[in-house]
Amino acid sequence: QVTDTLTKEGPGSPSYDWFQTDSLVTLVIYTKQKDINLDSVIVDHQDDSFRAETIIKDYSYIIHIVRVIENVGKIEIVLKKKENTSWKRLGHPLENHNSLIPKKDTGLNYRKCQLISKECVTHDTKLFCLMLPPSTHLQVPIGQHVYLKLTITGTEIVKPYTPVSDFLLSELKEPVLNNKYIYFLIKIYAAGLFTPELDHLQIGDFVSVSNPEGNFKISQFQELEDLFLLAAGTGFTPMVKILNYALTNIPSLRKVKLMFFNKTEDDIIWRSQLEKLAFKDKRFQVEFVLSAPTSEWNGKQGHISPGLLSEFLKRSLDRSKVLICICGPTPFTEQGIRLLQDLNFSKDEIHSFTA
Ligand code: FAD
Ligand code: NAD
Repeated sequence: QVTDTLTKEGPGSPSYDWFQTDSLVTLVIYTKQKDINLDSVIVDHQDDSFRAETIIKDYSYIIHIVRVIENVGKIEIVLKKKENTSWKRLGHPLENHNSLIPKKDTGLNYRKCQLISKECVTHDTKLFCLMLPPSTHLQVPIGQHVYLKLTITGTEIVKPYTPVSDFLLSELKEPVLNNKYIYFLIKIYAAGLFTPELDHLQIGDFVSVSNPEGNFKISQFQELEDLFLLAAGTGFTPMVKILNYALTNIPSLRKVKLMFFNKTEDDIIWRSQLEKLAFKDKRFQVEFVLSAPTSEWNGKQGHISPGLLSEFLKRSLDRSKVLICICGPTPFTEQGIRLLQDLNFSKDEIHSFTA
């Protein structure tokens, strides 16, 4: 049945097997791909259903059953039995079990996460920490977002948010294995639909978190020499993990520059952390641009413009490999892309973050 759902361009059919001891059941997924890592598999055990989604290029291979329960393309999921009895079968199949379907067709899968902490970052932006359920394995890849879901006056409301690290430069080279916490920098809009509700949650309350989505690929960093980040307001959020990753893992990188657009000084997220990082790592520079500064501001002013960009986007060498990431309000991003094209940057050199 798996082959029925595959297209000619799709990956080879994955398969699974399972075995058990008295106390453990091991589920093995043969992906038939070499470049599978922990980002590629999302495991949930909610109520009675067990679901493992393995992302293989643009496809999702799903193991979805009721009951229960990195290297060369084999994934082992070990389930601890509630009772030491022999299982006759792994479970009864649920929707999409043992099928490989285009990732875009899998829909969003949610799990309930608990609010652990909420910390003010600016006058209107907070750092939220959510904890994944103990039986979930989920790592959000760099540059991707998830959807948060709350039921507000009887209606389910869903909005996208980009996870960040809990502070700007973690000392850790590798992401922590099986990290149970997800952090978000979220601006609360007093007249908004979703964010005031989110802000009203008490510590210990639950929010549903979806599987990750997004088209940023870490391969865009390969052999990269200059990285330019253009962020406006909370459009800074995808840049957090990008900065962390690029400065720790890309040896070819000579220069990383962030131009951060905000209305006022009070709106700048993690300003002192950014300044400290620039002090600590000489490859990194940050420039703040304000659209509604007070008269005391003697830094750069205005909106995104040809003048600001042409001065900012200087390659470290004539032909250095560059990537420009841009994120912010839609008119900001659209205008930015037009200006970058006018400055002769190619499509491959620009990554814009959108929904
Ligand atoms: P909304 O109800 O959408 O309102 C937002 C603002 O617009 C309010 O000030 C409201 O008064 C005003 N408004 C609403 N309707 C109108 C109207 N018709 N005319 C004029 N004004 C109006 N945000 C973050 O803070 N952090 C993130 O990490 C983050 N990541 C994102 C990732 C992606 C891929 C995308 C697309 C967006 C992301 N966002 C992020 C934005 C987020 O999804 C929400 O749009 C945001 O939180 C506002 O939601 P809300 O329901 O509270 O406000
Ligand atoms: P904001 O209103 O505080 O504005 C920040 C800056 O954006 C301004 O100072 C200005 O320089 C620029 N800007 C705003 N409107 C502009 C316009 N019409 N033309 C040109 N420049 C403009 O921003 P905010 O309230 O923090 O909003 C952040 C936006 O980023 C939201 O729309 C959010 O949806 C988006 N966002 C998208 C993603 C994503 O797609 N992955 C992630 C995070 C945030």
